[in-house]
Amino acid sequence: MDHSGAHNRPHVALLPSAGMGHLTPTLRLAASLANHGLQVTLIVGHPIVSAAESKLISRFLSAFPADQVREKQFDIVSVDPATVNSKDPFFIQREATRRSLQILPSLVSSLSPPISALVSDVFLMSPVLEATAHLKDLPQYILFTSSARMFSLFASYHTFFSETSPDFSKVGDFIETPFPGVVPIPISSLPPPLRDPKTWFASTFMEDSKKLSSFDGVLINTFGKLESDSLKGGKLLDGLPPLFTVGLVPCDFEKGSEEGGSAIIKWLDDKEPGSVVYVSFGSRTTMAKEQIREMGEGLVRSGCPFLWVVKDKIVDKEDNDSLEDVIGDAELVEKMKEKGLVVKEWVDQGEVLGHKSVGGFVSHCGWNSVVEAAWYGVRLLGWPQGGDQRINAEVVERSGLGVWAKDWGWMGERVIKGEDIGGKIGEIMRNDLLKFQAEQIGEEARKAVGDGGSCENAMKELIGKWKNE
Ligand code: UDP
Ligand code: UDP
Ligand code: UDP
Repeated sequence: MDHSGAHNRPHVALLPSAGMGHLTPTLRLAASLANHGLQVTLIVGHPIVSAAESKLISRFLSAFPADQVREKQFDIVSVDPATVNSKDPFFIQREATRRSLQILPSLVSSLSPPISALVSDVFLMSPVLEATAHLKDLPQYILFTSSARMFSLFASYHTFFSETSPDFSKVGDFIETPFPGVVPIPISSLPPPLRDPKTWFASTFMEDSKKLSSFDGVLINTFGKLESDSLKGGKLLDGLPPLFTVGLVPCDFEKGSEEGGSAIIKWLDDKEPGSVVYVSFGSRTTMAKEQIREMGEGLVRSGCPFLWVVKDKIVDKEDNDSLEDVIGDAELVEKMKEKGLVVKEWVDQGEVLGHKSVGGFVSHCGWNSVVEAAWYGVRLLGWPQGGDQRINAEVVERSGLGVWAKDWGWMGERVIKGEDIGGKIGEIMRNDLLKFQAEQIGEEARKAVGDGGSCENAMKELIGKWKNE
């Protein structure tokens, strides 16, 4: 099979991992490639975990002509949750996907015209390589869905931690990654499962990171002003493939007719410019009931109008409780109505952050949320809950986009009082310097993604490679 990609309209296949945090950047990349005139095939494992993912895929597919963008499906086997030591359906799906990729060679070979490159989610690296080992001349790329700072940890993790034990003596209180410009990572910011190399997550993280050199390139969703001190792009270290800092920003296809969406926008329309604080912890992070009540109290105390997306179930399909049940305090619900709008369905975050009334964002610092806040120039108060979120929060603070609550603990460690939450929100909403810095970052993001900008140049370089230019 000819994978030389000697077509003037390259055909690229994209393989996302489970969850909106992975699907969204994959589809933004796919849309950008299609807008640059490429043909795209999205390889999707079924069944899909959440309704949000299914809807987004449908919207994406219907936004482009069928001869330019297509979906190719494969079946996902089921795995015993004990394997991943978690009840989290997205974790289970990730492992199930890793075990279902033997189909890749026949699937890839059936694509017509032959593909110029396969771009796989970072979470699927080793099994992709294994399955496609005999497709020697297929160019293989990784989409890294977190920050460049997190990438520096990913690429060097195996030098500090071994399969059997972490060498904390080598690490001390900070991890100094070998990447020029990356400020040392405090051990306290390490994603909790990565502290113990024997966990399922850490062992796949290590296995995958050792394989980086087998890939032809890594795509990261970031841009200079956000991570100017981290990675400069290009080939960073011996043995590592080149890095392409592509800026993946909200796209038209994502706009849907969300139930309640127009009511939210109407509510925002009536508020003063920059006055509203938006609160959301992403697509899959839940909050305990007690913390939900304190958050409600905090928002009322902040004195700012607020739009709060409450979440107490990981997967949207399982979420049938009423808002009143979730908050569990009728008096508080009444109090909140005076100043705020509380919802529990999916909102179009791009539309909210892009609304002129929204001036602040309380976020868990999922990487997509950080990039979206940067894109719309909205200042951020980070409250990292798990995973890579503290490392991303450090990027937020260093760049000037916002600040983060360093003493509020990881998810569920303890309950943070409404008084503290309200106080911190008030502080960031009154902070004009932060407002100015965030707006500047938004402007820089637009330059990076615009004609002649660093992200657009990286995208063109990549496409040039696929055209064999
Ligand atoms: N998102 C959204 N509406 C919601 C919740 C989430 O549009 O109600 C989007 C958000 O804009 C982002 C993605 O879902 O693009 C979540 O990714 P992120 O990396 O921020 O966090 P994760 O959900 O993976 O923890
Ligand atoms: N989690 C994570 N990384 C991991 C394991 C878990 O970020 O490697 C998150 C995951 O999203 C889950 C939470 O931490 O919601 C608790 O997961 P864990 O596996 O510790 O407990 P369980 O899901 O079995 O309650
Ligand atoms: N993580 C990573 N690279 C990524 C995204 C996440 O290494 O591109 C890590 C993150 O630091 C965390 C772990 O993946 O330790 C689990 O993250 P989770 O699955 O909760 O994140 P998501 O699926 O929402 O990206």
